[in-house]
Parts: sequence; structure tokens; C-alpha cells
Amino acid sequence: MSLLSDLFLPHISRLKAYTPGLQPVEAGWTKLNTNECGFPPSPRVAEALAQELSDGAASLRLYPNPTSAPVRRAIASYHGHGLGVENVIVGNGSDDILNLLVRCLGGPEAATGFTYPSYSLYPVLVEIQAGSNRVIEFDRAMQLPVDQIALSSAKGFFLTSPNAPTGVAFANQQLEEILKRFRGILVVDEAYAPFARDNAVELLDRHPNLVVVRTLSKAHALAGIRVGYALGHPEVIGLLDRVRDSYNVSRLSQVAAIAALNDACYYSALIEKIKSTRDFYRNEWQRKLGWFSYPSEANFIFVEPQDARGQTGLAVAQSVYAHLLNRKILVRAFPNHPLTALFLRISVGTDDEMNLVHQALLAWQPTAQSV
Ligand code: PMP
Repeated sequence: MSLLSDLFLPHISRLKAYTPGLQPVEAGWTKLNTNECGFPPSPRVAEALAQELSDGAASLRLYPNPTSAPVRRAIASYHGHGLGVENVIVGNGSDDILNLLVRCLGGPEAATGFTYPSYSLYPVLVEIQAGSNRVIEFDRAMQLPVDQIALSSAKGFFLTSPNAPTGVAFANQQLEEILKRFRGILVVDEAYAPFARDNAVELLDRHPNLVVVRTLSKAHALAGIRVGYALGHPEVIGLLDRVRDSYNVSRLSQVAAIAALNDACYYSALIEKIKSTRDFYRNEWQRKLGWFSYPSEANFIFVEPQDARGQTGLAVAQSVYAHLLNRKILVRAFPNHPLTALFLRISVGTDDEMNLVHQALLAWQPTAQSV
């Protein structure tokens, strides 16, 4: 008897899906595992959604604006730098945009590049296209291998900056060095850039082979509404538009996105708060526990737990993970690679959440023996 999977394309039957972080449904968890925002979105979002849903949600009978044109306008003016609607495409989260880019740039005849570690969705998207991956590994210092990327034969290279899960951001000067020499499209995934000192948006007008990808899921506290976007040369945006689903951003998502983008004041205070909490705890864990973490320019800390004897390792990281899990605190572990296995990634939450995780880490330290 033939298996149904035999009827599917062989590379799809073999595919290993992307594993998102756990999303527990029951209450009582401190959720610091998927870099969502610990704080609510601008109150203008709820107001705008209520307005859209007034009159018995009658507007939902109608399809949304197919190009998300008002959202594109709001994004262009949010960024400035001379960007217009022709430089913007909007998606159902930035995952949708990344998927579009991989579909357009990668396939059996064109390799797609990315670094390791970085966002683990990229290789899955490439494999869906039956494409081949060119992976450039960081070393422990997590500094950008500029020459290797510049010389890569990939058609599209995906670079996460600030990187995930390390939080390390790359300087525009290094990105420019790559952009001048790399012969493909460089996609800089800036999901966490609102928490960074710098970003690549100002490079767009000098480098037509640059695409910057952003999301409203992190700094704009809208992971549940699913809006992401890309900024790039009008020709690139036009090509992506050919492949995009006609109605890829729902009515409610478009309304929420515009309301959020129009409240820059609310978000700049929120971002400053998250950055100062991040820097405070990074410093505390170094000072009180002696735990190394990479300098983070994102809304998370990638920290390397150490036991009472100063030992680090997979077992130590797993012991801390289990200890936190016992206290219903969820963080993220990356046990499958030596560069990441010794670390835990902890999203920066509210003061209460951070205090809870901090107390739990302090409670683990004195009794820990390597397991
Ligand atoms: N890029 C990176 C680096 C991420 O960490 C994430 C979130 N997991 C995304 C993109 C996707 O975000 P979203 O689809 O919610 O916009």
C-alpha cells in the first residue's frame, strides 16, 4: 500500500518543519522564550480595532486592501530616508516576507546563503523550494565573516542583525563592505533593530542589492496581528509583489499596523524601557553570577550559565533550563550545536517577569553541581 507521503514531492516528504518556541495555553507561565514584547501595544491599536469592528464588524464582509497601500505609506513615512510606497512591501508577519524572498531567490538552480547561528526558519524555507543552503558558520566571537559572505555564490544571502539568538548587531560599515562586493541580494533581517544603536535603512538608497526586513511583532508588541515588511529597491519590491498572495494582510492587521506606526512616541518610551532592563540584567548576571553573555542589541539576552565550580556546558545550561521550567518560567535552549548549546536565550520582559527569572537564577547557582 502506498503511503500518502509518496504522492508528495520527495523533498517535501523529507522536510523537517520549523519548530516555533512553545506557546503554552494555560495561565501561570512566565513566557520569555519567543522574544515577544512584555508590554501591550499602543492604546491606539485597541481604539482603531474597536472602530473597525463597530457596526457589527460589517467591514469584515469585504476583502482587505490587496496591496496594503495605506500601510505601505505609513511605513515609508515612519522610516523617512526618502523612502516612498514603491520601496515597501507588507506581509503576514516577516516570515511571509522571508518566504517570498526565498521563493524568488532560491530554488534547485540557485543557492541561498545564511550564517549559523541565525534564524532557523531560513533553511526550512530554502528546503521547501528544493533549494540548496550555503551556510557560513560564526566562531565563538560571533563577528561577521565579511569576506566569506561577500564571496559567496548564493543568489540571496540572509543576515540577521541584530543576530538571533546571540543579540550581536553588525556595523553598517561591514554591511557596506559586503554590499559592494557581493553579487547577489543581501537580505538584512532586522526583526530586532528597533532595540539596536544602528540599522541598515540608511544604506538602501546607495545599494540596490540590499533588502531590509522588519516586523511589528517585537518592538511594536503585535506578534499576534502578524505584520512584517520589506524595504528595498522598487524593482525588487515589484518582483516580490508578483509572487505575493493577493490579500496577504487582513483588514484588522492593516488597521492595527497603521495605528501602531502612528504612535512613535509610545513606542520610543517602550523601547528605551526594554533596552535599559536588558542592559541592567545582562550586567547583573555578569556581576552577581559571573555568567557571560554577548553584548545584546535585541530584546533578549543570550547567556551562558556557569555552575558553582565555574563550569559551563550543555548539562549546566540544561539544568538551569529545567530549574526555570519547574518554576513555570519558559526560556529558549538551542542544544543542537556547540556554538549555542551552552547558552540560554532569555527574552526581556516586564520588571516583574525579570525579577522572577533573576531570583530563580540566583536560587539555582549556590546548590548547582554539574549534572
Ligand atoms: N526574523 C527573526 C530574526 C525572528 O527572530 C523572527 C521571530 N521569530 C522573525 C523574523 C519572524 O517574525 P514575524 O513573522 O513575527 O514577523
